Amino acid sequence: MTGTSVAPRVHTGEELAELDHRHLLHPFTPVGVSEQLVIVSGQGCEVTDSHGRSYLDGRSGQYNATLGYGHPRVLAALREQSEKLMTYALLGASNEAAVLLAAKLAELYGEPLTHSLFCNSGSEANEAAVRIVRMYHAMRGQPERTTVLSLAEGYHGTTIAMSAMTASPLLWAGCGPLPGGFAHVPTPRCAACATGAAHDGCVVPGPEALEEAILAHGAERVAAFIVEPVLGVGGIRPLPEGYLRAVREICDRHGVLLILDEITTGLGRTGVWFAHQREGIRPDVITTAKGLTSGYVPFAAVTMTSTVAEAFAGDPMLGGLRHGHTTSGHALGAAVALTVLDVLDTDGVVANAAAAGERLCGQLAQRLGGLPGVREVRGVGLLAAVEFDSFMRAAQVVGACRAAGVIVRCEGTVLSVAPPLVVTAEQVDRIVDALYAGVLAADAAPP
Ligand code: PLP
Repeated sequence: MTGTSVAPRVHTGEELAELDHRHLLHPFTPVGVSEQLVIVSGQGCEVTDSHGRSYLDGRSGQYNATLGYGHPRVLAALREQSEKLMTYALLGASNEAAVLLAAKLAELYGEPLTHSLFCNSGSEANEAAVRIVRMYHAMRGQPERTTVLSLAEGYHGTTIAMSAMTASPLLWAGCGPLPGGFAHVPTPRCAACATGAAHDGCVVPGPEALEEAILAHGAERVAAFIVEPVLGVGGIRPLPEGYLRAVREICDRHGVLLILDEITTGLGRTGVWFAHQREGIRPDVITTAKGLTSGYVPFAAVTMTSTVAEAFAGDPMLGGLRHGHTTSGHALGAAVALTVLDVLDTDGVVANAAAAGERLCGQLAQRLGGLPGVREVRGVGLLAAVEFDSFMRAAQVVGACRAAGVIVRCEGTVLSVAPPLVVTAEQVDRIVDALYAGVLAADAAPP
């Protein structure tokens, strides 16, 4: 290190690839893959890689860049807030932006979801939700209510506790011991369809599987059930119609709190503000992240009813919620989130997501449904998936799309499409064209 300041060196694409290969450990990516996609900039719905190639971003970064890249109002909010104040939270203090955001979320959700706690990632928000529901029951004289139930194919994050809540071999094998207090409920989808096997009549575990799990554990020991309205990492699977309404009723009957994980689905992704609104139900606790700041700043929220929030006053040790991080309610994230919420509303972004989503899901079903190797096309709003008959075919189609200048996401046999909510009709068509050509090419030249 020297004290002399030098202009930052511009690295070539090859240099970046080499440094990336040698030093950066990629999340959920095999080590040693020689060339990763290194994105250096973005504008609107397009991103550019370290070799100067541009792509239409059909995955919104990590499903989070909902307003696209370089949004002028978001950048202005970020700049303004960073010049004013970046951080202040915890221990009797907060900051203006965090206060205003909490009030804005309360207005957006409406009664009784009145109080929010802020975190830095979706996993942290769900972790906080676990502590919140357990402390809530303890405050109400039921400290034995600790078990949190989740769907067997749900995804709630990768911290050690969230790994326990997410029943994935990828997160479990070689990562134990995982904490107890978590159990899983069969996912409402047909097990035979999941394997691609031909069979007569689907058997789909319904909401009664939740009630059975509650009774099996003993209702007096169950704190909460957490669920995504559309399983995201679990394959972009919307819950069957009526499922959320039924589980709301079951939870109420057994004194179990309902936590909705709307980290992927919230804030316009499915063409409505929050996916659970389609079912006309209200959760006790809801978590959001990703689109809350459109990916500009790491940030997440846990929003809860006043009944839940006010219970913490009864805590004998602190008289409040014993939880928080150095950067809880970070002012930059809060200021950006306030602007994102305003843009979603005033610029008609949620309405655009609904229209573009209908076009995307409709065209995918119409043009890709029934093509060779395509097992199913599904989705809601701008959260769509094409499931293939093999990993290889899915990977081939993703590669063909990339070569055609369109980035889509792939997990196993499921290729997902989730462009920014500001995507145009022409861009939706480009994504579908790339997928269609990719499926035909994969069929013409199998690996
Ligand atoms: N919950 C859902 C539904 C998610 O999709 C994700 C991330 O993909 C998470 C939780 C975890 O969020 P994060 O990756 O920000 O920790």
